[in-house]
Amino acid sequence: MGLYGVVMDDATGARTTEPPPLDMAEAVPGLGAYARTVVRLHPRPGTPAISSSHIGGPVLWPADEPWPHCSDPKYSEQNRRKTPDHPVAMVPVAQLAAADFPEIAFPAGTDLAQILWCPSHHPDWGYAPAFRLIWRDSSTVAEPLAAPPTPHLIGDADYVPRPCVLHPERVIEYPWHEELPKDLRDKLEEWEAGESLYQYMLSIVPGCKVSGGMSWEVTDMGELPPCDVCGASLELLLQLDSCEWSTDAEGLRWAPLEDRHLEFATPEHNRAHEPTGLQIGRYSHGGFFVCSAAPEHPASFFTQ
Ligand SMILES: [Zn+2]
Ligand SMILES: [Zn+2]
Repeated sequence: MGLYGVVMDDATGARTTEPPPLDMAEAVPGLGAYARTVVRLHPRPGTPAISSSHIGGPVLWPADEPWPHCSDPKYSEQNRRKTPDHPVAMVPVAQLAAADFPEIAFPAGTDLAQILWCPSHHPDWGYAPAFRLIWRDSSTVAEPLAAPPTPHLIGDADYVPRPCVLHPERVIEYPWHEELPKDLRDKLEEWEAGESLYQYMLSIVPGCKVSGGMSWEVTDMGELPPCDVCGASLELLLQLDSCEWSTDAEGLRWAPLEDRHLEFATPEHNRAHEPTGLQIGRYSHGGFFVCSAAPEHPASFFTQ
């Protein structure tokens, strides 16, 4: 597992996704070329180490480096009465270590991706909070900050993730239908014959994950904007989700086998189903996207 081995919670252990009930590559000729491996993170509330991959706090941060604060001028202007005292300390959202995620293209000389955001709703960001993505070289952190500062203002408690340990699992995903070329989409539609198995059971992996793509069932995907700096396409670094699987019949395939016995709405079920406590958009998901040519270019966050 290397220097930043993922902390395993022995009480809960690894999580396993049920294999697909059928082979999509066989069902729709040509689709096999679009199969891709994504990493389900299977976060579970726990006590992550400061240098490990995890969701929520803490993060490996140099004690002498200023902590990011949100001072979004539009936000404070529009909400002057409600929030007179920006800037607000951001909260850790996730930390991903290169040793755990060889699929992430880290900028040269870095081995930690750290994401922080403002724990308040920003009207001009849609349903997304203002965020920072920091690529860090962990070997340069001589004296880490003991704990992240507590924000003096939490506009939206749903934006503060519970600290979670991760149980990464590699699974195959197929693209959101709008990502596919037209001829393949037509073949897929014909095969589906009005059902929605592909969308909910056989394609996009739900929940918190690294790489792959998102489902765009609320808005159409349309054209994802390119990188602001160089015009290259964006790719998904990390998806956050309000729950790990849909409790609809088709979505239950994504409930880990180890969690199937949990009784709905019990605390044990909630810890598995809504581990981070985050609510993204209207109980949906969102993703941090980075430039496919140069990951150090500014990242974007899209919600559904
Ligand atoms: Zn803010
Ligand atoms: Zn770029």
